[in-house]
Amino acid sequence: MTTPLLGQMMDVPLIVSSLLAHAARHAGSTEIVSRRIEGDLHRYTYRDCEQRAKQLAQALIALGVAPGERVATLAWNGYRHLEAYYGITGFGAVCHTINPSLFPDQIAYIVNHADDAYVLFDTTFAPLVDALAPQCPKVRGWIALADEAHLPAMQTPVLSYETLMAAQDGNFAWPYLDERQASYLCYTSGTTGNPKGALYSHRSTVLHAFGASLPDAMSLSARDAVLPVVPMFHVNAWGIPHAAPLTGAKLVLPGKDLDGKSLYELMEGERVTYSAGVPTVWLGLLNYMREAGVQFSSLNRTVIGGSACPPAMLRTFEDDYGVQVIHAWGMTEMSPLGTLSKLTWEQSRRPLAEQRKSLEKQGRAIYGVDMKIVGEEGRELPWDGVAFGDLHVRGPWVIDRYFRKDDSPLADGWFPTGDVATIDRDGFLHITDRSKDVIKSGGEWISSIDIENVAIAHPAVAEAACIACAHPKWTERPLLVVVRRAGASVTREELLAFYEGKVAKWWIPDDVAFVDELPHTATGKLQKLKLRDIFRDHVLPSALEDEKNCSLARGNPV
Ligand code: AMP
Repeated sequence: MTTPLLGQMMDVPLIVSSLLAHAARHAGSTEIVSRRIEGDLHRYTYRDCEQRAKQLAQALIALGVAPGERVATLAWNGYRHLEAYYGITGFGAVCHTINPSLFPDQIAYIVNHADDAYVLFDTTFAPLVDALAPQCPKVRGWIALADEAHLPAMQTPVLSYETLMAAQDGNFAWPYLDERQASYLCYTSGTTGNPKGALYSHRSTVLHAFGASLPDAMSLSARDAVLPVVPMFHVNAWGIPHAAPLTGAKLVLPGKDLDGKSLYELMEGERVTYSAGVPTVWLGLLNYMREAGVQFSSLNRTVIGGSACPPAMLRTFEDDYGVQVIHAWGMTEMSPLGTLSKLTWEQSRRPLAEQRKSLEKQGRAIYGVDMKIVGEEGRELPWDGVAFGDLHVRGPWVIDRYFRKDDSPLADGWFPTGDVATIDRDGFLHITDRSKDVIKSGGEWISSIDIENVAIAHPAVAEAACIACAHPKWTERPLLVVVRRAGASVTREELLAFYEGKVAKWWIPDDVAFVDELPHTATGKLQKLKLRDIFRDHVLPSALEDEKNCSLARGNPV
């Protein structure tokens, strides 16, 4: 056997600290602007950020945190959270970002499961920390992201972040780590059962940052000012805190106020060119802008993902406000980016209406993600835009196994995402459902997301969810649950008529239920499990009709 000839290039590990070190050296004076919990706007540069991240690393080492230990954050998007990202991972500890909107019991479970050594928290979460601390006895200390003057009155003994930082000089060299060491720990939102941990590595985080920055992905650059609305506690804010220093983009961090007015004013004030968030957040921003009669002066693109972006929202952004929407799909287990809606050379030469149809989908896989759809017995399905199947993925930033779980979630080396999708000839993915939300009518699948998108395009509809309802003849039929826009009125019949010509006849919901609000998960996704529970006993008019016919056929009295 011959020995393979090895390349003779430097063996420099792909480590998270190198991203900030690069920005500090090559975009050192570029600003990071944060709206603070204290109420003011804080501004400093990548150079300052690296200096303080090093102070934090020194402070944590002084507290006895060892490489590999988990240090958690409960924080909004802000400069201290960014320092935590780099200060914790920079010396080999693991930054565990916790979603504060989960139920306190779930958070306590996560903290204990992760075995967090310290927890850094924004002072808004002081009551939550007081509730958690007695349930998390192994946490060695709770650190408030504030100076002594802003420490909240609490039952739990806490340390001041700024006091810890002041004791350090920042004279610290980022160590070379093994790139396969763990970097971040993110838990899934746990819509069913306990949340599960996805443990990223330095290598996966850096490769993901490269992938995210590509022109056909987020296309960030040193000429952008990027405002991630997506929280840094949710899948690393889709990688923006890593892609921004990699590219040298200015970062604008919005803190806790995510209402339309606050976001709009920050975007305008900081000349933001680029943003990213879930559809619910954009609803608030668009509502505010419509009512205030204002336009963007600098924003030109935004990533929308986390849930399907309704085509109506895409059109409003593009036609009314001149903002390009990049529809993205991904998940915690994928760091999270998988696909983004950027057209190919060939697609961009097709008629505009066709281009738009493509852009409504979740887009093409970026390099680093391979995907396939499979049917029964794992058989791969064709990419014809018609065949629905379970979506499987693989790649260097895709999960191999969950934190502290022995059994592998993989099937033949691929990760089953739990999403159901089609892929068309252009390689464009279209998510039609979560597999557990699929509606099976007479053995055929109906896409609940497509049904919802039609409803949302109706001017009187604020939000809509489509769920399966039991049916004697078809097994399941779609029920549409709708929240009307404030002050608007629409009837069941008007809404059902609105579907004519927009979807196949048999996809039109059998009934409409109007509600004041829909249940959401902590990350803003519709909680269909809960909704199905609420409407468990709902009887569809068509079911009654069919029940009657079946009974008559059986000769039973009705
Ligand atoms: P999470 O891990 O909390 O980020 O949730 C990931 C899940 O959100 C995915 O598996 C999808 O079900 C859903 N999701 C994310 N992005 C999209 C999108 N653009 N369209 C439809 N569903 C999405």
